Formats: sequence, C-alpha cells, structure tokens
Amino acid sequence: MNPVQAAAGLVFEEPLLWERGRPGRMGYSLPRRDVEETPVPEALAAEPPEIPELSEVDLVRHYVRLSQWNVAVDTAMYPLGSCTMKYNPKTNERQAALPGFALAHPLLPEALCQGALELIAALECLLAEITGLDAVSLQPGAGAQGELAGMLIFHAFHRRQGRPRSKILVPDTAHGTNPASAALCGYRAVPVASGGQGILEPEAVARLMDEETAGIMITNPNTLGLFEGHVAEIARIVHAKGGLVYGDGANMNAVLGRVDLGRIGVDVLHLNLHKTFATPHGGGGPGAGPVCVTRRLAPFLPVPRVVHREGRFFWSEDFPLSIGKLQAFWGNFGVLVRAYAYILSMGANHLEEVSRLAVLNANYLRVGLRGDYEPAHDRPCMHECVFSDARQRPHGVTTLDIAKRLMDYGFHPPTVYFPLVVPGALMIEPTETESKEMLDLFLAAMAAIAAEAREQPELLREAPRRCLRRRLDEVQAARKPRLTGSPPAP
Ligand SMILES: *Cc1c(COP(=O)(O)O)cnc(C)c1O
Repeated sequence: MNPVQAAAGLVFEEPLLWERGRPGRMGYSLPRRDVEETPVPEALAAEPPEIPELSEVDLVRHYVRLSQWNVAVDTAMYPLGSCTMKYNPKTNERQAALPGFALAHPLLPEALCQGALELIAALECLLAEITGLDAVSLQPGAGAQGELAGMLIFHAFHRRQGRPRSKILVPDTAHGTNPASAALCGYRAVPVASGGQGILEPEAVARLMDEETAGIMITNPNTLGLFEGHVAEIARIVHAKGGLVYGDGANMNAVLGRVDLGRIGVDVLHLNLHKTFATPHGGGGPGAGPVCVTRRLAPFLPVPRVVHREGRFFWSEDFPLSIGKLQAFWGNFGVLVRAYAYILSMGANHLEEVSRLAVLNANYLRVGLRGDYEPAHDRPCMHECVFSDARQRPHGVTTLDIAKRLMDYGFHPPTVYFPLVVPGALMIEPTETESKEMLDLFLAAMAAIAAEAREQPELLREAPRRCLRRRLDEVQAARKPRLTGSPPAP
C-alpha cells in the first residue's frame, strides 16, 4: 500500500500477514517467568516455525477488513442452488456458545457430560421423526461423509447377506459426491438417464437393476428442483432384486414434514444439517451429515452410539456389525447444538412452513425469470429453479458472465454449470428466508443483466466491474494458493 493511497480515504487493499509482520511484535504478553527454565524440545528449537509476528490490533484489523469484503448470508441474498444458503437465526449461535456446550472437552467422562449426550440422543430422535426413518448417527462431518457412511452400510449389509455386489445406480442429475462416495467403497457407478420429464423413470431403473447392483442413490427433490415422483415404485424394483435405496437428503429444505422417506422405500438417507438445519456454511465448514436408516440397517451404523440405560446416557461400541468409526471423537458437536436449537425453536408446524415458503419463493423466481432466461423445464419446481444461458449465448454472453455481473448488483451468484444435464446451467435457490421485496430486487437485477446481454454484451464479459477484484484465475487460486507470503509461483 503506498502512502498516498493510505491517506486518500478508505483503503480497500490488504497486505498479507507476512507483509504486515515485524520481528518481535506480539499478540499477547506473559508474566515474567518465576520458575526454572526448561529447554525447548530439540525438534522445536532447531527450526522455529516461519510465522509472522503481529500485534493483536494488526490481527483483528486484518481479519475484520477481509470479512467486510465478503458476501455472506448476513449481508445479501445468496441464491447458491443446492446449498440452501438460508439466513441462520442468531439464537442458534447463542445456544451453541453456552459454555457447557462450547467448552465441553471431547474426552470428558460420560458422567460429566450427560447434558451433551442427552442432546445428541434427542436430536437423533427428532431427525428420525422428521425423515420417517428409525435410527440415526450424527457422526459424519458433512453430506459427502454421510454418503460414504451410507455406501459402507450398503456394503456391510450385502456382505452379511453373503453376496457383496459391485455396482450402484446413480442418476445423471446426481451431485458429483454421489458417484465419488460409491467409488470410494469400490462400487462402479452406473449412470441412469433421467426421463423427458427430468425425473427418473421406473422402466429405466428396471432395465439396469440386477443382482450385481447394490442399490441406487436418489436425490429428492433432484438437482433440477423436481420431485422424484416414482421413488416408491423404483424402491420396489430395487428391493425386489435385493438392492437398497440411498436418499441424498441435501434438498430436504423442500420437503420437511411433507415426505415420509421410510414409507416411500428409502433405506439410508443423509441430511446436511448445515444446509437444512441452519448452520452458517460456505468457506469450508464445519458441517454435519447425519445418516438415518431403517430398523434392519441400524446394526451397521457407525460407532460409538449414544445409548440410554437406567437413567444415564453413555457411549457404546457394542455393535458388532457396525461399519466402525468415521471421525475423531463424536462428530461436529457445535453444529448439532445449532440444529437442535433450530428444530426446537421452529417446532413442527414452522418446519413445514419452511418448505412451503422455500417452494413458493423458488416458483416466484421461476415465473419471474422465464421471460428473459431459458428454463431447464416448464414444470412447477420445488425449492430451486434451473435456467441456462441459451438465450444469451447468441450475444456471446455465458452463464459465467451473468454470474459475475450479479456481483455488481450486490448478489451472490447462483450455482453455475450444475446440474451437468443442463448445458450452461444457472441453478437458483432463494430459500424461505428471503422477503418478496428481496426477490423482486433479484428479478430486477436479472432483467437488467438480460437487457445488457442484448445491448452491451462487452460489459458483461468484463464483469464484475464494481468489486474489489475482477476475474480471478480460479484454477491458479486452487492449485497454487499463496499461503506463506511467498511470491506467486510462475
Ligand atoms: C451439498 C450436496 C452434497 C454434499 O454435501 P456436503 O455437506 O457439501 O458434503 C451432496 N448432494 C447434494 C445434492 C448437495 O447439494
């Protein structure tokens, strides 16, 4: 930062901590030593870590300034499809920060953390009731890890039946984590094409389902925002061949309290607590991806499991068929507290209302946008709507340009280029927490961008123009991140 800039109003530039650091500067001060000096272990003494030396104020300003440059659910609408970036009520944060929860050490003896164990047991019951399934493990740390747990359960189940299987059916609209989780368990993912209506057709599943196939992974509603209406029939086909049905519950925000997953034949389901049950996410974590299962699969759930006996809660590893432990300690407990607080503060009626409003908001946008953007289908949607850049491409404007331009209008971009079955997809999920005024502002911004695409396409290709950074090299940023203040690699 040059001195003229620094004296010319607010400066929106921020050096790296390594550039800010000065030798000898400290963020804390310890009292003078009043005990014998103990030499530092040799491994540490030999090479002090290369970390910058900073004062507390250096550090606070650095991170507060960076945080102010970010778009967040707390600053603007964040219609990132499939991610359910809803507003997260602050009371959940308050409950998770209660010292009894936030400071509980994971190695506390059970007698000293009965409240935490009771919360885990109670949340398991609530999630079982919400999904219509029988038993729950809160251990997985994200949706993808829930999928892995589910695939390990499939595998353990089939082995127990005496015949491990080699394949899994995965619809072409699935999230990339689905085939990846199946592959991690050694399954070959066999794609199933969606039908003309954008959903799975029982005949297509029947053609592929055989006794080498462990089961199917179904996301409902799917990533086109459409309700998979044939799940019950598909489940019958899969079960008849001895297979199992996995439900990817990332889109549960659309169907809370409305669909009994157990009754329509789902055997294993993961939830994304950070999406549906209001934990702030984006930027990487932490989350939680509980797995919910039917009674016959409960013996395979990860251990340890909370059990309640003679008035006390304790951890038990006594489940000989279990797939084992997936995570350090007991899962991401802070996220579980938030989900519990959210569910209790909403109550059953308001959880149903969440889905009603999420679906209403998405359909309001779907109808409001279809004059300017090409819809992926013309059916009423669930909690999100999908468009493409088909009408903008003739002007040389792509989905990426539209997404970048939205940032100039103050909105986080939608999910882009997913689902893969829609070329140039724009996947928009407003969530239930946006007001009609906010949705109208979004529609106005999208209409303005559509007009710009027709009249000044070059403007869009340069977007964002009003942001601190223009187009970043996303590949370079991911492959060669600058983490230590060293100059970027050539
Ligand atoms: C988000 C998402 C996942 C993965 O969940 P994570 O919690 O990000 O690991 C899986 N499937 C769908 C449809 C998703 O939207």
